[in-house]
Amino acid sequence: MVDFKDTPEQAAWRAEVQRFVDQHLPPALREDARYAGSLGGLHRGTLTTDQRRELTAKWRRAVLDRGWIAPAWPKEYGGADMSPIQQFILREVFSESQAPSVGVPDVGSTILVHGSDELKKRYLPGLVEGKEQWCQGYSEPSSGSDLASIQTRAIRDGDDFVINGQKIWTSGAATADMMFALVRTDPDAPKHRGITYLLLDMKSPGISVRPLGQMTGARQFNEVFFEDVRVPVRNAVGEINRGWYVGATHLDFERSSIGLAVGFKHRMQNLLDLVKAERDATSGRTTLGRSSATRAALAERAIEADVARNFSNRIITLQNRGVIPNYEASVQKLFSSELHQRLSNTAVKALGLYGGLYDEDDPRAPDRAVWATYYLATVSETIGAGTSEIQRNVIATRGLGLPRG
Ligand SMILES: Cc1cc2nc3c(=O)[nH]c(=O)nc-3n(C[C@H](O)[C@H](O)[C@H](O)COP(=O)(O)OP(=O)(O)OC[C@H]3O[C@@H](n4cnc5c(N)ncnc54)[C@H](O)[C@@H]3O)c2cc1C
Repeated sequence: MVDFKDTPEQAAWRAEVQRFVDQHLPPALREDARYAGSLGGLHRGTLTTDQRRELTAKWRRAVLDRGWIAPAWPKEYGGADMSPIQQFILREVFSESQAPSVGVPDVGSTILVHGSDELKKRYLPGLVEGKEQWCQGYSEPSSGSDLASIQTRAIRDGDDFVINGQKIWTSGAATADMMFALVRTDPDAPKHRGITYLLLDMKSPGISVRPLGQMTGARQFNEVFFEDVRVPVRNAVGEINRGWYVGATHLDFERSSIGLAVGFKHRMQNLLDLVKAERDATSGRTTLGRSSATRAALAERAIEADVARNFSNRIITLQNRGVIPNYEASVQKLFSSELHQRLSNTAVKALGLYGGLYDEDDPRAPDRAVWATYYLATVSETIGAGTSEIQRNVIATRGLGLPRG
């Protein structure tokens, strides 16, 4: 039988992390977490955007000062060199306390695996400090799922590459300081073999950014245009023309994010609280939870939230053994993103007449319209970081050993 109980040392570590959280996590952030979160660039929280930013920075600073911001990284690059089980417990306590996610961006882990010593020294300290924002320049107007077909050209000129082309759907590009990008460095090679993974400064002359609107009302996406942009050749991560494999490592890190699955528990609880609290004005009896369709759907979602949690545990177990999750990351990404949509759908239906209200200032909107917002925002989750169809292809080929279609 699997025993998930802590050993005495693990229990002591858990208590130490919990004490730290109790001491440093601003209570206002916990309350805000009920409504805010990654909602496709929108936040329905109790705090203003500025307040949230300020308190999150304070929390990040505390984690950084404690030396825990990059638990898995070596100490020499500002990491904590924690044992696998310590990392797991730290992440669990943080997420159960509804602390905002404040680690280091995945690009840092990719640099750590594939980057030169020079790149590690130059970029990892900044990533640990959290001073720079990064964006991901992969997708192009004609290259999304078939990412290896990218056309943005980087032509070598002395010690620089000169870049021309366009990226699209680049989240956060309008405010980013740096981009990690896939560019074509050899147009004559087979398509996977002529790509390089480059780090580039968003202030470089020749870069322009045009924001794109989303159906939630947010403007998180952008188009990014490159016109004769010069980037030093030494900014290539890994070998030139072998960037496809570096980019794939990055996607494995990105898809194995456990945050979403851990968050389901809280979302589920928030929804149950709402459903249980809703009472008929005359009889005082709970109303919403009495529908058999609602009860069945909530039971299904609760089971699925537990399953998602177990997929996360599997990812963490692999990471703890030093293995970068591969098709397992696709299983986790596929299941969690589709579950997030099902959960939002269940919530909007379960909350009845006002469940679909989208205006957070409307007093009739349950939980400041957070569920209607999720309903719209989660549509994109089965597209970003690779669509559900692509995840199924990865699972079928790499996981099940089936031939490519
Ligand atoms: C929230 C969000 C954030 C994003 N952030 C970024 C970012 O920061 N940086 C970045 O570079 N990109 C980003 N993207 C873009 C994202 O990576 C692409 O949208 C995604 O890879 C799909 O590509 P596409 O939009 O070109 O669709 P297409 O590739 O044109 O796909 C269209 C449809 O065809 C299906 N399809 C395609 N090929 C196959 C196949 N072989 N087998 C079965 N079905 C297939 C797809 O599943 C999809 O349903 C983001 C997207 C979203 C939604």
